[in-house]
Amino acid sequence: MTFSSFSLDTVLLRAITESAYDEPTEIQKQSIPLILAKHDVMARAQTGTGKTAAFALPILQRILIQQPCAQHVRALVLTPTRELAQQVYKSFCHYGQFTHINIGIAYGGVSTKNQIAELKAGVDILIATPGRLIDLLNSESVNLDKIETLVFDEADRILDMGFKEEIDQITERLPRNKQTLLFSATFADEIYKMSKNILVDPKIVEIDEKNKAADDVEQIVYAVDADRKRELTSYLIGSKNWQQVLVFTRTKQCADDLAKEMTKDGVKSSAIHGDKSQGAREKALLEFKEGKVRALIATDVAARGIDIKGLNHVINYELPYNAEDYVHRIGRTARAGNSGLAVSLVSIGEEWLLTAIEELLDIRLLQQWLPGYEPDPTKIAQPKKKTINKKNARKDALSSGNKTNQRRPTPRGRRR
Ligand code: AMP
Repeated sequence: MTFSSFSLDTVLLRAITESAYDEPTEIQKQSIPLILAKHDVMARAQTGTGKTAAFALPILQRILIQQPCAQHVRALVLTPTRELAQQVYKSFCHYGQFTHINIGIAYGGVSTKNQIAELKAGVDILIATPGRLIDLLNSESVNLDKIETLVFDEADRILDMGFKEEIDQITERLPRNKQTLLFSATFADEIYKMSKNILVDPKIVEIDEKNKAADDVEQIVYAVDADRKRELTSYLIGSKNWQQVLVFTRTKQCADDLAKEMTKDGVKSSAIHGDKSQGAREKALLEFKEGKVRALIATDVAARGIDIKGLNHVINYELPYNAEDYVHRIGRTARAGNSGLAVSLVSIGEEWLLTAIEELLDIRLLQQWLPGYEPDPTKIAQPKKKTINKKNARKDALSSGNKTNQRRPTPRGRRR
């Protein structure tokens, strides 16, 4: 199958040729015809398999058929993070580069001035994060009365409870009669339930079994004492000569501290999280992409959707509270047919998080010891008294403005 079999306009095919895509990926093969036929679609496919083009191309095509006029926004794409909004925006601009379609973007952390000016000038397609979109709606800087297509990118993240109020506020300002598309690599059971209120007679596209990690990621788990994780991380990066490594922590504070310590260890690192200014976030991501910084230490703000060409190594310095986030984190590598390695560091008291991941993926992730970093057998797990609210913990990792408390989880599920 080729892209021309979708009957896409030649201006879109030209952009695809420039991208050097030989053929559509599986998610594209199945979703593009359904979206062109105006169905509601709930689509799940592994990370890095071309989901953005799977919705961007048919949306651009539908607007081309009706003639872009930029008098009102016709398609709205909601993303959970600013970085993903920027990336999706760039993809739309790339695929739409030979068209006259106006594409706009709205995200927080920067002045609204340019965004309002752009909206006033007129956009056909708007990519937005929920918080900023609500600000723009409240100041009547944008009108969404004429939306024909609504996309939830990383749908399970954006539809979870952390964003619920914001999403409700947005959807009540949209017309009832519209096409709605949900795209993600994972769908928690509650999203399937919730989708019944959002989608009308949807077509379901499921490329793999539920919640599958990308095939070409090798997954390694090292058991290590918590107080030696930093040393082990720097050792792995240095001894194996990894040049570009994305390291995930659960909290912003940990990301900041680790970036400082690893830089002292000789591994140039910077941190990216929701308390950083938008400028600092963009700089950190750009420097990492350009290879100026060897390790990017990130909270889950960078777990979703972010496409870093040629990234081969991901380290889970701390496992996420939500097993689904693990799938997204390790999916930053092995993208577009490449391979990758995901190393997770697990210390005493964190095994329950590993168990949850194993249960979600239905695989066994054997813990290994790296010589010289074997856990100290005299250390025993401390009982954990506090419970955590996983939704709030995730929102905290993604959100802006609040300083993070280091929350300690309560062990849950079976222990080994
Ligand atoms: P996405 O899942 O949309 O973030 O895309 C992951 C990567 O796959 C991006 O680098 C895209 O440029 C690339 N990509 C998208 N569609 C194709 C395709 N049909 N063939 C090859 N690469 C693609």
